[in-house]
Amino acid sequence: MKLQELVSVLDTELQPWMFKDYCPNGLQVEGRENVLRLATGVTACEALIDQAIAWKADAILVHHGYFWKNEQAQVTGMKKRRLQKLLTHDISLLGYHLPLDGHPTMGNNATLAKLLGIEETGPMDPSESRPIGNIGEVADTVSLEDFGAAIEKALGRKPLLISGGDHTVKTVAWCTGGAQSLIGKAIEAGVDAYISGEISESTVHAAREEGVHYISAGHHATERGGVQAFGAWLAVNHGIEHQFFDIGNPV
Ligand SMILES: [Zn+2]
Repeated sequence: MKLQELVSVLDTELQPWMFKDYCPNGLQVEGRENVLRLATGVTACEALIDQAIAWKADAILVHHGYFWKNEQAQVTGMKKRRLQKLLTHDISLLGYHLPLDGHPTMGNNATLAKLLGIEETGPMDPSESRPIGNIGEVADTVSLEDFGAAIEKALGRKPLLISGGDHTVKTVAWCTGGAQSLIGKAIEAGVDAYISGEISESTVHAAREEGVHYISAGHHATERGGVQAFGAWLAVNHGIEHQFFDIGNPV
């Protein structure tokens, strides 16, 4: 398919104009006109670009692209090397950040819920028109430890569990990636546990003192679902060849 058509199909589905984001969403680096092979990955790091080049990708779709607010504007060092490889090989980079978190069926939050067996019941913040965090329930009430073990099995990474008390887990709030600061919204929602990717020193105190379990399940580990779901969807609906490249990251 034509690159412009791919961008327009993704924009239509992800509606980036509905989100206030920290980076440009959509086509970030323009490559060749036709896209047959689409590589996907969580972050447009150099290792992903190298694998995409080796696989002869025409374009790369990621969750964490480039040109973040407050980042240095100069094209030097790491940024130079990444852009040089993309431009030399005429490979496009498409990045979708918050729109990919929030997509109701193929987004990072939706796919994480499926993976962990959580049934969504609503948004974490009811005032958001496009919620990027959700609340829901697990089928059977479990202990925090057993829930942690199930998450480890599903994501292939041991989560860090912060106990908020003796209670079991039935209701859950979750928001993938670096959303530990949204724990206040989970507390307001009154859930048993809150899952995100990363953790800060202050998250531990909020969990303990407000009585909500906190589960730090990995930023990378919780954000692999969205790009894979979109790659698979493009393969089925638009005849594109898709390959996901998992560049390991312990955080
Ligand atoms: Zn992220």
